[in-house]
Amino acid sequence: MKKLLSLALAITLSTSLMSCSTVSKSLGGDISDAEINAEAEKAYAEVKAKSKISTNAEWTAMVKRVSDRIAAASGENFKWEVVLIEDPQVNAWCMPGGKMAVYTGIMPVLKTEGALAAVMGHEVAHATRRHGKQGYARAMKGNLAGLVIAGASIVGGQLLCKTQTCKTITALGGAAGGLAIAFFDRKFSRADETDADQYGQVYMARAGYDPAESLQLWDRMAAASGGAAPPEFMSTHPANDTRKNNLKGWLPGAQAEYQKSAQKYGLGANIK
Ligand SMILES: [Zn+2]
Repeated sequence: MKKLLSLALAITLSTSLMSCSTVSKSLGGDISDAEINAEAEKAYAEVKAKSKISTNAEWTAMVKRVSDRIAAASGENFKWEVVLIEDPQVNAWCMPGGKMAVYTGIMPVLKTEGALAAVMGHEVAHATRRHGKQGYARAMKGNLAGLVIAGASIVGGQLLCKTQTCKTITALGGAAGGLAIAFFDRKFSRADETDADQYGQVYMARAGYDPAESLQLWDRMAAASGGAAPPEFMSTHPANDTRKNNLKGWLPGAQAEYQKSAQKYGLGANIK
């Protein structure tokens, strides 16, 4: 309770600070990858400490091998790591610097290992393409807590969260820094989402998964979202038709990458 109260106080303070400060556009330019990645590592350690790690050996092994292959295919020299978190959310993410998580709730929606590769390709591309870097830099320099938890109200000394982001941040006990807050509240631009789709499709193909599965994946995701709160990769996304047309248009290029890949797993194993 004490923690909650001090968090709430910090939020109130930062909200008032935010309202009278103008954030410079150049802020993102002077924070290095190393600084951002170090913050992400701290946030990731918090997430792991506060989350229930799945004991499903089959799914864990699949998440590990897919993530390893996507990481290698990206060609990026990150300190890669992945965990499968026991949580019904249909979600997955990759923090700056290569710290990844998959939630058990997404697994049945995916249906195939290839679709998991499509999701991880997309999430990893956000990290390798440095999407949201300006926002992370700003969050690390300033204090954006107030923006994230703006939807919450304090009733009888308790912070009541209305959004998943607020719940996630509150669950971290206020120990997480600005980067964690900005990360869990991230909303990439449409241009960044399209970029992540394109690079993600190439990553999955280079990792040895049939890139045609990327089109199936988004159909399954759209069907699963059915009016519920959408996960990151559905939220600010181009309209479904645009996205599918894009993926179709890029497919021949991705198929050429798939043909060049040393190992070919097709759709991989089914997810049961
Ligand atoms: Zn995305």
